[in-house]
Formats: sequence, structure tokens, C-alpha cells
Amino acid sequence: MSPPLPHHRILSTLNEDGTRNWIRPKLARGRFLRRRRIVAWALIALFVALPLVRIGGRPALLIDLVTRELSAFGAVFRPSNGFLLLLLGLTIVLAVFVLTALLGRVWCGWGCPHTVYLEHVFRPIERWLEGTPAQQARLSRFAPRRLIKWAIYAALAFAIANVFLAYFVGVDRLRVWVLESPAVHTGGFGVVALVTVLMLANFGWFREQTCIVACPYGRLQSVLLDRQSLIVGYDARRGEPRTKAKKLAVATGARGDCVDCSACVAVCPTGIDIRDGLQMECVGCAQCIDACDAVMDKLHRPRHLIGYTSQDQLAGVPRKLLRPRLVVYPALLAIVGSLFVWAVASRATSEVTALRNDGPSFVTLPDGRIASAVQLKIENESDEPRHYVISLAGSPDAVLKSPLAVWEIRPHHAQPIPLYVEAAASTFHHGERRVHLRIFDDQQFERIVTVTLLGPDGGEADDRGRERGER
Ligand code: SF4
Ligand code: SF4
Repeated sequence: MSPPLPHHRILSTLNEDGTRNWIRPKLARGRFLRRRRIVAWALIALFVALPLVRIGGRPALLIDLVTRELSAFGAVFRPSNGFLLLLLGLTIVLAVFVLTALLGRVWCGWGCPHTVYLEHVFRPIERWLEGTPAQQARLSRFAPRRLIKWAIYAALAFAIANVFLAYFVGVDRLRVWVLESPAVHTGGFGVVALVTVLMLANFGWFREQTCIVACPYGRLQSVLLDRQSLIVGYDARRGEPRTKAKKLAVATGARGDCVDCSACVAVCPTGIDIRDGLQMECVGCAQCIDACDAVMDKLHRPRHLIGYTSQDQLAGVPRKLLRPRLVVYPALLAIVGSLFVWAVASRATSEVTALRNDGPSFVTLPDGRIASAVQLKIENESDEPRHYVISLAGSPDAVLKSPLAVWEIRPHHAQPIPLYVEAAASTFHHGERRVHLRIFDDQQFERIVTVTLLGPDGGEADDRGRERGER
């Protein structure tokens, strides 16, 4: 027998004694379930395809943790593209703000990978093998059907873990990790095994608690929604006072349309009663709408006792599209989004950065001249190899020494370039002098970079060289 539920409300997943209240929702078939299934399977196809499909020779979406690169639909971003990444991050955050202010938790119920896989892949398998919620509750832990379910779950978790990891390490590297012996790739094998266990624990055991206690987006709802945002709501003005279906025939006086059948509670995947009002646990999945619509159909009453609505609409206030957060958020989104698009479209094909030098900052040559170390990093942001030449711009008294006359850099790669600039010791003042380096490629890229050379203080040479601060 299950422990009693608490009298005062804490969490829908907790029993009175603090143990887990297992939520085994029934399935309500209806128009929203049909639409959600179409969306879910289209999204599953998209989730699987994105790391596999190649655009411009790169995965459509790859957040490469090894090389610290983000590839998104043909564009590549590296940590040096900090400003672009900031704009991209802001654009995504503002888009979430707009979507939530307008459509509430539509993402949670319809698009979130957790909901999509749990409700459209894992739970259907559970219902198929273990039966109705009541049959599931009666089944022993080691019943053969339950063990088969866990075996299928483990295989699915492995597949989903691979798809998930493909977004972070790339399909090619993942294939090597999976196909070669674990002894050769212990690290890679460990990551795949760990993510598989986490997926299995999430979809097989943790389930709705991910939405209720772990997901930060769910926690943000109260500040992102306003009274006009789309929510799943119960029309209490029409439904109350609720009357049990059995008592309908003998009911006298005012009675609402709700027959207190609890169908909406029985199907809720987070275990709440939507008739208690808007709650943080509601993921907007519309299962209670389908359940209640079926009840209303049977009773020949109008649908939409529970439906997509807004807090204002439930209170009889007319719909308003023009409201402060639907002006401010979209305006900010348009500004930041346009800035991002402009910055991507106009960014240079190459980036040049002067880096801190690792070794001695300078050495004194046998003829008394100073050779100062310079370290550049050139990033080729284009899709083809580029050939770079570096020379001194001005400074006829100095000579640039480079290990190569022409530097070939692969597409979307960064190359550190060690250089020396030779100049007379007397040209250094207070241990420093400046030179300008001209970097150009075989296309149309050209950049002048100013670097500060370190040398002897007051023209005094020190043949051991000295380390100085950042150039
Ligand atoms: S399904 Fe509809 S009628 Fe039944 S309890 Fe819920 S709101 Fe009332
Ligand atoms: S209250 Fe309704 S919409 Fe919200 S989570 Fe439960 S079933 Fe889904």
C-alpha cells in the first residue's frame, strides 16, 4: 500500500512520510495529444539529424568542447569571438523571454527534449509492457515484463546518450569512442557510459522531478509570465461549484460543469490538480485538456472547461496583445538579434591577436643588437586555407625574423606564430619600444597590429633576457 499523501501541499511527488509519490499518469487521447505526437516525432528527427547533417563541411550544430568551438549552421565561433558569442547568448535569452511571455510553457510541454522523449518514447513503452497505471503499481520490481522494459530503456538511453554527446564531441570522435576497444579510449568510453547511466536514471526513475525541482527554466516562469500569457487553465467560473457525476441527477441549486471526476488529475504527468489554479509544476502538456474535453463530450457540454487561456481571460478581462513585456522584449530582441546578424555578416575572415610570450622576452645578439620575442596568433575564420605574410610596417631600423616567409593556416584554425624583431639596444626607452606589424593574406585581408617590444632598460643589454608582463 502507498504511504498517505500530505494534507498540506508540498510537492506533488512527495508522500506524507517524505518518500516518493510515484506518478503513473493515464493517457488521455485527444486533439492535443495527436498534435503533440506529430511535433514530438518531427523534433526527435531534428535532434538526431542536427549533429549528422553537414553544412559547409561542418555539423549543423556542434558545441565542440575539445577544440572549444561552436559550429552553428555553417558559422564557426571560437572563444576569441567573445562579443559575437555574447550577442548570440543574449539573442537566445531574449527569444526565450518573448516566447514565454507570449506562449507560456509551450516549450516545456511541446518542445523540450526531456518531455518529448519521456512522454512519447519511454512512457508508451512502459504502458505497452506494464499496462495501465493500476497494473504498473501492482507489478513486482523483478517481474519479467519490468525487466524487459529496463533492458529496452537501457538500449534507448545508450542511443540518446550518443545523440546528446554528438552535439559536444562530434559524430566522428564519438564513432571512434564507441567502436574501438574501451581500453584504447578509456576516457571516451567512460563519458559515454556515464551519460548513458544519467539518461537511464532520468527517463526511468527521476522523470517529472527534472521539471519540478531541477530545471531552472521552470523556476523562472513566475517572473517571465504576465496575466495575459498563454497558460493551461481551469475555468472555475464555469466549473464551480463542482458536483460529482452520480449526484448530478439529484443536485439542486447552482452547479458548475465540473463533475469532479478527477480525469484531469489522473492524466497529469506532474501529478497536480489544475483546478487549484496556475502552478509552477504545470508544464503545459495539455493532457488535462484532452481528458476534460472527453468528459464534456460525454456529458454533451461545451469543451474548454480546461483549456489554453490566460489568467486575465479566466477572470473575464479581454485579451490584450500590446502590453509592456510584449513591447520591451521583442524590441530588445530585434536590436540584439540585428546586431548579431550584422556582426556575423561583417566579421573579418581572419583574427590576429598578440599573445604573451612564454620564453625570455629578449636576447642580446653577438653584435650588441637586441632580438625581442613577439608571439602572434592568427585565426583563419574562412572555409578555405589561407596564406599569411607578416612584415614590419615602418620601423626601417628594425628587422623581422620569422621561421617561415608564408604561413599556411587551415580553415577555421588558429596558429600561434613565434617571431623576433631585431633592433639596436639604443632604440629601447625604459625597456620598451613599439613596432607595427602588417599581416596580410592571399585574399583581401590586411591588418596592422601594434606590439610593444621588451628590451634592455636604458639601453643596457642583458644577454640572459628578462621576462616582462603582457605585451
Ligand atoms: S476532468 Fe474536467 S470535469 Fe473532470 S474533474 Fe477535471 S475539470 Fe472536472
Ligand atoms: S496541469 Fe495539465 S497541462 Fe499542466 S502538466 Fe498537468 S496535465 Fe499537463
